[in-house]
Amino acid sequence: MVSILRRFRDISIARKLYFTVGIMALLIGIELFALFFSLNTLSAIRGFVGGEGLWSKAQKNAVYQLHLYALSRQEQDYLQFKEYLKVPLGDGRARQEMMKPVMDKGIIRQSFIEGGIHPDDIDGMVKLIRRFHNNYYIKQAINAWTEAEASLWELINIGERLHEEMTIGNASPDTIQNLLGRIEPINRSITVKEDAFSYALGEGSRWLEHFVLKLLFGVALTVEISGILLAMYVNRRIQIGLQSILDAAKGFAKGDWNHRARIHARDEIGMVATAYNAMAARLQEHIIEIELKNKELEQLAYVASHDLQEPLRTSASLVELFRSEYGPSLDEHGIQYLDFMAEATNRMQQLTAALLDYSRIGRNRQLEMVNCNVVVDTVIKDLNALIVEKKVVLKVGILPQLPAYAVELKLLFQNLITNGIKFQPPGNIPVISIGAERIKTGWQFFVCDNGIGIPKDYHEKIFVIFQRLHSRNKYEGTGIGLAHCSKIVALHNGRIWVESSTGEGSCFYFTIETAL
Ligand code: ADP
Repeated sequence: MVSILRRFRDISIARKLYFTVGIMALLIGIELFALFFSLNTLSAIRGFVGGEGLWSKAQKNAVYQLHLYALSRQEQDYLQFKEYLKVPLGDGRARQEMMKPVMDKGIIRQSFIEGGIHPDDIDGMVKLIRRFHNNYYIKQAINAWTEAEASLWELINIGERLHEEMTIGNASPDTIQNLLGRIEPINRSITVKEDAFSYALGEGSRWLEHFVLKLLFGVALTVEISGILLAMYVNRRIQIGLQSILDAAKGFAKGDWNHRARIHARDEIGMVATAYNAMAARLQEHIIEIELKNKELEQLAYVASHDLQEPLRTSASLVELFRSEYGPSLDEHGIQYLDFMAEATNRMQQLTAALLDYSRIGRNRQLEMVNCNVVVDTVIKDLNALIVEKKVVLKVGILPQLPAYAVELKLLFQNLITNGIKFQPPGNIPVISIGAERIKTGWQFFVCDNGIGIPKDYHEKIFVIFQRLHSRNKYEGTGIGLAHCSKIVALHNGRIWVESSTGEGSCFYFTIETAL
């Protein structure tokens, strides 16, 4: 059984469905066959019952005719007696022929027609006797029939005796009376046999009806139950197969690179699972490679920015030393060159410091429950001087509490709020609004301002490290703030984007996944 189920599991879904429908069709076929067979059988029984009616009517008529003959002494009446007997005698010949190991269908047909049976009923009746002559009810009916026939022969004998007496000698009224007196008990015993015949067939047909009803009910129940079970089984297998692929894909999406789909069967779903696993394995290789490269790059950025600081410091202090020692002897150009050098070094120091910060982001991150309103309040406090100076209007909505990297999240808000205050047209009072809404996988935040806005073409570029849209004279900065934001949002499995157009202010959106 287990091995059959296993083999069934491995065949294609299409075949499973064909198989299920095939089983149904087979069972329904069996049911129809049983119905057809039983209708035929019942119709044959009906033929016999009808035949029995004719038989008994003919026999009764014959008895009546014999009485008539005894009174009238007319040969014609005797002949009529014989004529009536043709029906039971025809049936009798048919019965005897049917009982033979090799029967002659022609004789049977001819005899039954003499017995008054409708030609269309004959085949079914023959089949019934041939097939079921060992059946209890049929046996009983045949016995009753045979016995009735024996009595019939007694009746015929009496008729013949009467005829002889009448034709040869002048039969005395006593002899006639004597012979007629013997008819009545025979007549009665035949009636009993006829009843027995009909009764046996009636019982048999009732038994058959019950049997067929039970069979039909049983088969119908089997069709329904097996249909439901098979459908449930096939459905379950499909669900299990799909679920394992779904689980694997979800696991993979969450970063469990080792997650693979379990292959439950070698059907179409099994094939998809196998293909999915091959794809996941290939992706995993690439991811490991990329992660390694990323780490190397981060390391490079870290080492470079860290190691560059020292010579830059030296360079800066040497410029200042040079200025203090040789400044007085330099002309205007010399001083200007020194200023340029100092400024370039300073800029270089800022950039390397920013790069160092960038490479450090998330290095020691710690996941904790963070109340975002508290985080934003802290940022506002830190920026208090700037906010007061620029008379900034802040509108902070109710922000969620969620598991996040607190230090990094604070930097994220800080960068966005600072940019909102910074990138303003001269003399404009900055209005910054901050809020959040629940989304399917976590939270979506926004930080909007009424500043200078960003042309559409730059909506993606601004997140690239050191990308700036303005000269430093106009707006201070290193061009690393949004790159920081991008990296921090990525740590939270989210994404960041901007909606803005020139002069219309900007809205920065970012999402954070709750399940980190
Ligand atoms: P920085 O602020 O140091 O220039 P960022 O990476 O934070 O660097 O920003 C990159 C550039 O994106 C900015 O130079 C500016 O041109 C543009 N930008 C960022 N935020 C805004 C804003 N709120 N409104 C207008 N432009 C902005």
